[in-house]
Amino acid sequence: MRSFKILLIEDSAMQARLIQGNLESEEDTPFAVVIVDCVKAGAEQLATEKFYAVLLDLMLPDSAGIETFYRVRELAGDIPIVILSGLSDVSLAAKAVEEGAQSYLVKADASGEQVARSLRYAIQRSQAEHKEWDSPMLHLAQQQFLKAAQILNLDDNVRQRLLFPQRTLVVTLPFRRDEYHEVETVFGYRVQHLLTIGPTKGGVRYHEEVDLGEVSALAMWMTWKCALMHLPYGGAKGGVRINPTQLSRHELQRLTRRYTSEIIDMIGSDKDIPAPDMGTNEEVMAWMMDTYSQQIGHAVPAVVTGKPVVLGGSLGRKEATGRGLVYLIEEASQHIGMDLKQSTAVVQGFGNVGSNAARFLEELGTRVVGVSDVSTGIYNPNGLSVTSLQEHVAQHRTLQGYPHGEAVSNRELLELPCDILVPAALQNQITSENAPRLQCKMVAEGANGPTTLGADEILTERGIYVLPDVLGNAGGVTVSYFEWVQGLQNYTWTLDQINKRLHQTLTGAFHRVLLRSQRDNLQMRTAALVEGIERVAQAKLSRGLFP
Ligand code: NAD
Repeated sequence: MRSFKILLIEDSAMQARLIQGNLESEEDTPFAVVIVDCVKAGAEQLATEKFYAVLLDLMLPDSAGIETFYRVRELAGDIPIVILSGLSDVSLAAKAVEEGAQSYLVKADASGEQVARSLRYAIQRSQAEHKEWDSPMLHLAQQQFLKAAQILNLDDNVRQRLLFPQRTLVVTLPFRRDEYHEVETVFGYRVQHLLTIGPTKGGVRYHEEVDLGEVSALAMWMTWKCALMHLPYGGAKGGVRINPTQLSRHELQRLTRRYTSEIIDMIGSDKDIPAPDMGTNEEVMAWMMDTYSQQIGHAVPAVVTGKPVVLGGSLGRKEATGRGLVYLIEEASQHIGMDLKQSTAVVQGFGNVGSNAARFLEELGTRVVGVSDVSTGIYNPNGLSVTSLQEHVAQHRTLQGYPHGEAVSNRELLELPCDILVPAALQNQITSENAPRLQCKMVAEGANGPTTLGADEILTERGIYVLPDVLGNAGGVTVSYFEWVQGLQNYTWTLDQINKRLHQTLTGAFHRVLLRSQRDNLQMRTAALVEGIERVAQAKLSRGLFP
């Protein structure tokens, strides 16, 4: 988990150690505190380290009063500053807030919990003010798009139109934890990238680092993915900036219901249809559907997909992304002449996508030698039993402590010798730094955006075959589409029908992309993006411009 590094500028050693102790023992937010006792030492730290916030005493040996704030503000740039004030200089602290400090705390009154809360808010507010769009993921999505647009010689008006989402909504939610009396303010997002083709579609992600840029990148990828699969949707995505693994079931439900009611004007079965993504699951979808239906006045199952089967969810949706990825791995292996029965696989992320991909690979006779989740990686060159891994996670929540393999870090896991590497967790995992050391023959992307642009080039040079995300993980939205169609028709299909249609849709798309990549001499990723973007551009141009 990320820890928030805080610079504490305070000349009373006792006071500083007390604050440090309180902050570093906070359970919800892992703070790491660096203490200095004067502005000069603070300047050295700010020049060399990245801090999330500064806690500042205004009365220091080398500076006093509001002057201290001005000097530190100059050094800190965008980093938020929280003032630590004595009882006698509260008016000075208030003046600092007028001049741009995020807030102030009176030392004698502030408990450890209050200092932590104040810092959390300061970091969130500063993020909202400065960094919402500034996401490496959005830069990656935009660079990939521009590269494909160049190849397509895309109409410049359309290019400008598609570079940013058409609609974005940022909401703040009041959120109360079970045992706390305080009400936290949590940020939530819903982004619709393209409204041209039909309703918009995309998952909802709960993660502590979600921001508007990340959600926008994911919405953009959804647009290309739906177009590539010939689904009648534009791309969308949602997110809430919170760590869901620390929430009780009640907390998760309260948060989900409030988030749903805040975005309710934007969603609907013919407008925008959410689904699960990282940190959310079918239970969360059931709460979203219930909240929406309560407000509309009748049950609207088709407002979300990925919901429980008993509420109109589709058979096969839960495992669709992992299953689809393995259908595509089969197709790609045939193409490159790799026998899956003689192959080994490493899977990063053991959630919905990763654990199902591992399970279906194992069923095909591929030996799964490495898996990981947020807690640890596990390696066993003789092969791991996916059922036994799933049982361990069901009992302990994570892979930590799994006994039948050697513990490795997530970094090490990516570099293990194997034939197929499946990133199925976070973005930005395969970079130009580690791409030269990968020891696989194929990267099959379950996660969205796991490979940076620089790493892509290196993988191509090294002859490593890439099954790109917009194709690789499209099984999820494809079965979501089947679920939506079944919901609108009030009719259900059998699992066999679902899997056959999924196989047909994915292999059809795989061969379109392969053909394009061979015809125009493109990497599979660029070919997939070109296929999707071309269809979107045709749709935009056919509709014309209003008025
Ligand atoms: P999930 O929440 O079910 O599982 C995520 C897994 O990643 C968990 O095992 C978690 O412990 C692990 N993880 C989190 N942080 C990690 C880290 N720093 N290092 C290693 N592992 C880490 O999520 P999911 O639905 O399986 O989604 C995984 C990826 O697949 C995401 O990129 C998501 O956007 C993408 N995706 C999901 C679907 C879907 O249908 N669920 C569809 C398309 C794409």
